[in-house]
Amino acid sequence: MFRLLFFTLVVLTIFSILFSACGANPGASGGKLTVVATTTLVGDVAANIGGDLIDLSVMMPVGADPHSFEPAPADISKVADADLVLVNGIEFEAFLEKLIENAGDESKVITVSDGIEAIAFSQGADEHGEFDPHVWQDPNNVIIWANTIAAALSERDPANAATYRTNADAYTAELQALDSWIQEQLTQIPEANRRFVTEHGTMNYFAVRYGFEVVGAVIPAFSTLAEPSAQELAALADAIRALDVKAILVGNTVNPALASQIAQDAGIQLVPIFTDSLTEPDGDAPTYLDFMRYNVEAIVKALK
Ligand SMILES: [Zn+2]
Repeated sequence: MFRLLFFTLVVLTIFSILFSACGANPGASGGKLTVVATTTLVGDVAANIGGDLIDLSVMMPVGADPHSFEPAPADISKVADADLVLVNGIEFEAFLEKLIENAGDESKVITVSDGIEAIAFSQGADEHGEFDPHVWQDPNNVIIWANTIAAALSERDPANAATYRTNADAYTAELQALDSWIQEQLTQIPEANRRFVTEHGTMNYFAVRYGFEVVGAVIPAFSTLAEPSAQELAALADAIRALDVKAILVGNTVNPALASQIAQDAGIQLVPIFTDSLTEPDGDAPTYLDFMRYNVEAIVKALK
């Protein structure tokens, strides 16, 4: 009898250790899953799926350049303590390797862009990533993020799986409506004007989805960490003239000086848009949906 009781206790103990190690029974932060998102954009989508059921923190401050961001020791320890870490991937976060090393359990790091067909670089040599990480410039890719996040939350918190699914479905409907609205807005731009130059390689998914040509980028890379050569800048100026490009789109996380100089020299518009970060709540792009609407209105105004 005593033996049986002892055996039962051992089994129960092992079971409870396994159970908590899987994170199925989140203990920290009042029973909520603790989730860290690296970027403001991934954070916004996670907030839409997790709502009040998760304890979410976003690593990068709004307006920071994600390409050059370095996590502080406090960020690293947050990652170590988190149940789940949501990252953009496609080499967007230069610090990712360090972050995974310090995560403790690698399996809690979820790349939300997994399953998205990444666009490869096609404009010459690029040492800072072969593929464009700015996948969110097509809302259809953000639908993939939403589903990936819902699945990751559900796996670690099965009790709330139905709510995560409902939230993901509702947010997907908003993203589909956004996609339709964008297509409708962009019909105002004549075919001959459907091209632009960007500050770094940020708008390829947008261009592919909505039928634009990216003539080039001031920094001919998918990252802001590269620098253009004099020859590359001269070739860009030639292309702007030859193709009668009307605008350079410049993002909110970079120094616009060089793009501004090129626009001025070519006599074309410098159009501020949002590329790599949301804004504070009182700014023009506190959410991803606002971010895209703002960009589309700015592009229509510049090119119609
Ligand atoms: Zn970028």
